[in-house]
Amino acid sequence: MTTQLPTRGRPRTEIMETMEAARDQDVRWRDGKVWSLVFHAGDDVSAVAKDAYMAFFSENGLNPTAFPSLRKFETEVVAMTATLLGGDAETAGNMTSGGTESILMAVKTARDWARTHHPDRQPPEIVLPRSAHPAFDKAAHYFDVKLVKTPVGDDFRADVEAMRAAVSEKTIMLVGSAPSYPQGVVDPIREIAALAGERGLLCHVDACVGGFMLPFVRKLGYSIPDFDFSVPGVTSMSVDLHKYGYAAKGASVILYRTPALRRFQFFVSTDWPGGIYVSPTMAGTRPGGSIAAAWAVMNYLGEERYLQIASEVMRTAVILRDGVNATAGLQIMGHPHMSVMAIGSDVYDVFALGDEMGLRGWHLDRQQFPSTLHLTVNYAHVHMADQFLHDLRESVLTLRRPSLNKVSTSLQVGAVRLASKVLPPSALSRLTSASSKFTGVKGATMPTRSAAMYGMMAELPNRGDVDQLVLDLLDQMTREDG
Ligand SMILES: *Cc1c(COP(=O)(O)O)cnc(C)c1O
Repeated sequence: MTTQLPTRGRPRTEIMETMEAARDQDVRWRDGKVWSLVFHAGDDVSAVAKDAYMAFFSENGLNPTAFPSLRKFETEVVAMTATLLGGDAETAGNMTSGGTESILMAVKTARDWARTHHPDRQPPEIVLPRSAHPAFDKAAHYFDVKLVKTPVGDDFRADVEAMRAAVSEKTIMLVGSAPSYPQGVVDPIREIAALAGERGLLCHVDACVGGFMLPFVRKLGYSIPDFDFSVPGVTSMSVDLHKYGYAAKGASVILYRTPALRRFQFFVSTDWPGGIYVSPTMAGTRPGGSIAAAWAVMNYLGEERYLQIASEVMRTAVILRDGVNATAGLQIMGHPHMSVMAIGSDVYDVFALGDEMGLRGWHLDRQQFPSTLHLTVNYAHVHMADQFLHDLRESVLTLRRPSLNKVSTSLQVGAVRLASKVLPPSALSRLTSASSKFTGVKGATMPTRSAAMYGMMAELPNRGDVDQLVLDLLDQMTREDG
């Protein structure tokens, strides 16, 4: 591991070779076996994004007066996105670095809107289903807003009556997802927005993953509940371009129904010796490349190609959904509205299933409450469905055979379950930090057998211990040589 600047610069070719070699252990998304993190619509689309990114590699979106080019791209990207999502000439927004920043902005805007219009609501509360993305938790953590989480129904959609009951005199905003990440279902946005309208509250729709998919999926004839600005009461939306927009990473849009609402998002400082400083979003310097690449990809694909891509992605998603449901002991949770879904089981340990799939080269995220494996189907997967289902059935067969791994996993999980009943909390904390060692999860290496660790985490009664365990891992990951 390098800990010091080299005294003398190294040759360019050698640097590139070292970097290519460092990729060796990375997940191999090009093979279409990774079900999160990377969205790929083909090499021609990547080439357009890269050309545009490189052409505007040096430009800075901080000062729009210096680069009218970037201002044009951002304004048009925001306007095209607003139009796609039922917006009109009033709809206002900005580009951000990603879904998290868009959500941070929506929450900060709501807080400052409430400071002006409802200064008595202290601390301000946001009511949201527990399926909403952790970016809202991050926003609440940063901006001192309280989250009031409500359960979801058996269909994993937000329970509007539970949300109604959770609204208090401190509430400033309601949230719904289109769709939610864990099970890919669209919340009843019409009902949530109506409740918000009734109580004079803001209503944010998190369409980070769905914003560039649902409009096309609906146009293809699939049934999609109303979710965008065409629904009265929706006041803001977050939409990621670096997911199903197939733009370069670092591109999302935050939209507001009116410029007056967006005004609460802005930041200005007028008494700095360095001059008058104004900034629309969280970031100061903003990479011109990601703004330019988003504009380029949206213009390159156009509605027709987005529709064609969505059509193939949905065809693949349906094959996967039906194939999983036809596998005895496995099921797709709820009724996903598009191409995001979760595999659950009443029979098998799905984390052990995830490990088996891992041995066959598939990279699937693990989820909890309930335990599932997650699939975000994108264009990189259109020819992978049959192989995936084949390997899934093989993995299930393996799980049905007794093995040493399975015994040791259940012994470890059982040990923690027992320990949590008899040990004092401090001893349990030590045990949980030690568990990263004996389950073999270390540094940034990808665990091949994670069932023991996930099983244990799900068993621990004290979620604070789990938080500490995960924070320990994060700390180690950026210090040690994996
Ligand atoms: C991905 C996602 C986010 C967060 O977006 P980032 O770009 O990862 O910051 C928020 N909400 C939903 C529903 C998402 O799928």
